[in-house]
Amino acid sequence: MTRILLLGGTTEANLMAQAVAKAGLAGVYSYAGRTEAPMGQPIHMRIGGFGGVEGLQAYLAREGITNVIDATHPFAAQMSRNAVEACAAQAVPLMALERAPWVAGDGDRWTHVPDSAAAVDALAGPPQRVFLAIGRQHIDAFAAQPQHDYLLRLVDAPTGSLPLPRARVVVARGPFDVAGDTALLRDHATEVVVAKNAGGKGAVAKIAAARALGVPVVMIDRPRVPERRVVRTVSEVMAWLTG
Ligand code: NAP
Repeated sequence: MTRILLLGGTTEANLMAQAVAKAGLAGVYSYAGRTEAPMGQPIHMRIGGFGGVEGLQAYLAREGITNVIDATHPFAAQMSRNAVEACAAQAVPLMALERAPWVAGDGDRWTHVPDSAAAVDALAGPPQRVFLAIGRQHIDAFAAQPQHDYLLRLVDAPTGSLPLPRARVVVARGPFDVAGDTALLRDHATEVVVAKNAGGKGAVAKIAAARALGVPVVMIDRPRVPERRVVRTVSEVMAWLTG
C-alpha cells in the first residue's frame, strides 16, 4: 500500500496534500516547525526535524513509507540533501516538486549573488533603504551592514530585539500582490530589494514591484541540491504516484 511522506512548508506542498487527500492516498505532511501556527492540512501532519539523514532513514523504515515527495522551499537545501541520501539508503523512491526559478526580464535590474553572505557583501557602501525580503533565518548576518534602514517582512512578529539597529518590521504571510508590494516599496522609499530566487507566484510581487519602480534587486541564487527527479506540477507527481 502507498504511504507517502510529503516534505512541506510551501504552497506547492499544500496543493500536493490536497491532491493526495482527494485521491484517497495515505500520507503524512511534514513541517520543520519554523512558524508559530502552521496551516492545517487534509492529511496527517507531523512537526519537527527527523534528526539528520539517519533520523530520516529510521523514520522511513518505521513508518513504512513507500514514496517521498520533497515539496520543500528551493532554499531548504539541507532537508532536500537529507532526503536524497536517506531515500537512496532505504531504496524509497523520491520525487521533488519544485517551482521554476524566476528569470530576469525587461526592466529588471538584478545583481546575482550565490548566497546570503554574498548579499551582505553586496550591501557594502553608503546608507540605503533596503527591503530585506528573505525571511527571518539569515537576517543576523546583515548586522555587518548596520548603516542601512531595513524593511523586514516576517511571518511571525520577532521575539526579542532584532540584530539590525534601524529596522521596520511588517508581519504578513504571502501570497502577496503587486499593487500591495508596490505601495510597500513606495511607502518605505526602498532603494534596493534583497530577495531569494524562490520562484513561483506567491512571492514574485516584490520583484514585479521593484521592476515597476526601477528599484535594483540583489537576487540570491538557489543553493545546490544533489541530482534527483524533479517535476513542476502536482499532476506530474500524481502520475508518478499512481502510474
Ligand atoms: P533546511 O535548512 O533545508 O533544513 C534544516 C533542517 O530543518 C533539516 O535538516 C531538518 O531537520 C529540518 N526540516 C526542514 N524542512 C523540514 C520538513 N519539511 N519537515 C521536517 N523537518 C524539516 O530548511 P529551512 O530552509 O530551514 O526551511 C525549513 C522549512 O521552511 C521547510 O519546510 C521549507 O519548505 C520551509 N520554507 C523555507 C523557506 C526558505 O527560504 N528556506 C521559505 C519558505 C518556507 P533534521 O535534519 O533534524 O531532519
